[in-house]
Amino acid sequence: MTTRYQASRYDIERMLEGQPRYRIDQVWRGLYDELSDPADMTALPKDLRAVIDERLPRALELVTEHSADRGETVKFLWQLDGGSRIETVLMLYPDRATVCVSTQAGCAMACGFCATGQAGFTRHLTPGEIVEQVVRAAQRAKAMGRRVSNIVYMGMGEPLANEEAVWQSLERIHDDIGISARQLTVSTVGIVPGIKRLATRPLPVSLAVSLHAANDDIRDALVPINRRYPIQVLMEACGEYLEAKGRRLSFEWALIDGVNDRPSDAIELASLCRRFRVPAHVNLIPLNPTPGYAVRGSSRSHVYAFADQLIELGVNATVRRNRGTDIAAACGQLAAGQPVKVSLSNPPD
Ligand code: SAH
Repeated sequence: MTTRYQASRYDIERMLEGQPRYRIDQVWRGLYDELSDPADMTALPKDLRAVIDERLPRALELVTEHSADRGETVKFLWQLDGGSRIETVLMLYPDRATVCVSTQAGCAMACGFCATGQAGFTRHLTPGEIVEQVVRAAQRAKAMGRRVSNIVYMGMGEPLANEEAVWQSLERIHDDIGISARQLTVSTVGIVPGIKRLATRPLPVSLAVSLHAANDDIRDALVPINRRYPIQVLMEACGEYLEAKGRRLSFEWALIDGVNDRPSDAIELASLCRRFRVPAHVNLIPLNPTPGYAVRGSSRSHVYAFADQLIELGVNATVRRNRGTDIAAACGQLAAGQPVKVSLSNPPD
């Protein structure tokens, strides 16, 4: 059986055989424009609503919902078919509302500082499971009078290790939910063949690379896949993406005390950013605490000093506001209900 946001228009057409054609449009609009549950699709006759509800079941069963930052960050824990669990985060800002989606239950990339990586890989998500995360979070936003404007593929999992499902979900989110390609960001640990293929796909989505280190010695230790796709090879693939899409790249950099936050790290990072026709943008995040990694994040003041140094070196850098650390919803803390000890906090300024 297909699920609600996995079903294609053709699947719905077949499901509604014998019904007038405009019913297909009504269902599709109900699902994607109005983000309605079938029971609320009042344009449809009641018995048809019941049929759709039954034959297009949801893929995500809500386990818990937590909010933080005065309700501006909401973390959803879902249970999937088969029992595995994933998380989705909705973040409301004054000028935008962003949904952070998971692409896998767990992750096989084994980055030691990331809670998802510490837990290992369980399974890939289907396109319908990815799209439904967006819809369910958007329904929640709508209830607060807000419209989701941005999607970041920065939840659990490595998007480019589940490429086809990610691609299909991007198309559905773009074509049917109506979010523009530049507001869709795929974040990768640096799977080079996946970046190259993404460069050949039609939608010019934004690309973020979780760099965290600007030389292979440090990156091999932090991000194990670097041993397969070292920095030079990764930078070439990034260059291809930039040339194909004309989109500025961004690099994610979680600042780890004494590991990648020294002045020499900023100098090396700046030179990587400046090798592109359009210099790459750096997103700085102080490392968030996770249970399996004893090293601390840099202090806030140090993060700002690092940002200043990059800016002096001619590189655009922004310090990410840390959303949802107290509910373990922040970058690298998603572990689907496994306990995340938050007592190991960042050092005070
Ligand atoms: N696998 C993809 C998508 C996950 S994005 C990727 O690696 O890009 C999640 C982001 O949070 C990545 O940039 C990741 O490196 C970063 N991250 C992981 N653990 C973190 C932590 N403990 N503190 C801050 N950022 C972390």
